[in-house]
Amino acid sequence: MTAHPSPTTALPDELRSAPASRVLVLNSGSSSVKYQLLDMRDGSRLAVGLVERIGEETSRLVHTPLTGGGAEKRERTGPIADHDAALKAVAEELTQDGLGLDSPELAAIGHRVVHGGLRFTAPTVITDEVLAEIERLVPVAPLHNPANLTGIRTAQALRPDLPQVAVFDTAFHTTMPEHAARYAIDVETADAHRIRRYGFHGTSHAYVSRRTAELLGRPLAEVNVIVLHLGNGASASAVAGGRCVDTSMGLTPLEGLVMGTRSGDIDPAVTFHLKRVAGMDEDEVDVLLNKKSGLVGLCGDNDMREIRRRIEEGDERARLAFDIYIHRLKKYIGAYYAVLGRVDAVVFTAGVGENAAPVREAAIAGMEELGLVVDADLNAVRSDEPRFVSPDHARVAVAVVPTDEELEIAQQTFALVGNALS
Ligand code: AMP
Repeated sequence: MTAHPSPTTALPDELRSAPASRVLVLNSGSSSVKYQLLDMRDGSRLAVGLVERIGEETSRLVHTPLTGGGAEKRERTGPIADHDAALKAVAEELTQDGLGLDSPELAAIGHRVVHGGLRFTAPTVITDEVLAEIERLVPVAPLHNPANLTGIRTAQALRPDLPQVAVFDTAFHTTMPEHAARYAIDVETADAHRIRRYGFHGTSHAYVSRRTAELLGRPLAEVNVIVLHLGNGASASAVAGGRCVDTSMGLTPLEGLVMGTRSGDIDPAVTFHLKRVAGMDEDEVDVLLNKKSGLVGLCGDNDMREIRRRIEEGDERARLAFDIYIHRLKKYIGAYYAVLGRVDAVVFTAGVGENAAPVREAAIAGMEELGLVVDADLNAVRSDEPRFVSPDHARVAVAVVPTDEELEIAQQTFALVGNALS
């Protein structure tokens, strides 16, 4: 089981003694729900789990109770038709552990919501009006906001009396200065249609940059870090003194790095060309760039483990996909180095960033003049703990800091509900 760090934000005393101290965190994807039940008195996990392949014949629920020592993970396989059925199955598992969703100890449900637009700069208690606003943002987050909404509505149906809080991926990036957030297009058109760079993965960038300052043993306000969140979705951010000053995703999560299935940066004229020359309509181009591009488009695989395996076997397409992925990553590291002026750490996180040593090695290779070096032995270490992969003497630290979006969402949710109650 992954060791999870304790929370970094101290809770006010009145909340420590509050009877309702649990928060259920739901991260609803299009065909999956990840969940964690946390006790906010100490940030510990009571149960964690995942429902995947919702809507398929081969759905799977993996539930791990973490109370009472020696509890084993339980697994269910077989069709789970939709999010409603998924959440009901999760509720049954929790009830079996004495952690049912009807418990008075449950203080709130915190939902990861991908796009909060300009309106949501902080976690928000969900009302009908908030739901309507999240719905209005669906066109700019078509892969995510609909699934997030389904998760919220399903949870509301199960516990209509309970506060439900939306924690937005975009919120951390609202500190970006206008010169980083605006596209260089006609201002009236941009404003009329709320076109600007919002950025995503904000809870991860916030959490990881804070943990990096702790790893460095320095106050957050003093450190400049480049955070590389490399999962199936991927984004980079430049964080100066705990505030985001630039990030690679834009109006939607499509911009920036090469991802599992998304192209990242591309000349927008490619889309006109596809319409004029290939006869594709908007939806087809959307699917091409969001679902059939990136690593999967380049070599047919989006799992970095599989790509590395193919490279070891001499597969040229996998090699080229890897090289394109790394080249883009290097460009962002260089760009954010220039934006920040001084960098204290470059930090890798998420599935690829935490696990793929060859990606870290290749991304940093050749940057000695910038003070960036990876130590091969340290880089080869596998661990769930935050750690340096640069040698002691390095001018700029290179680190791996496992992200913990669920803890961040739970803390933000609980802080908001506590404030609302006081
Ligand atoms: P995430 O979106 O953060 O869950 O990351 C998922 C991705 O992490 C997968 O698609 C893989 O590409 C990558 N990944 C997970 N484990 C490993 C590993 N041991 N080595 C390389 N890549 C990994």
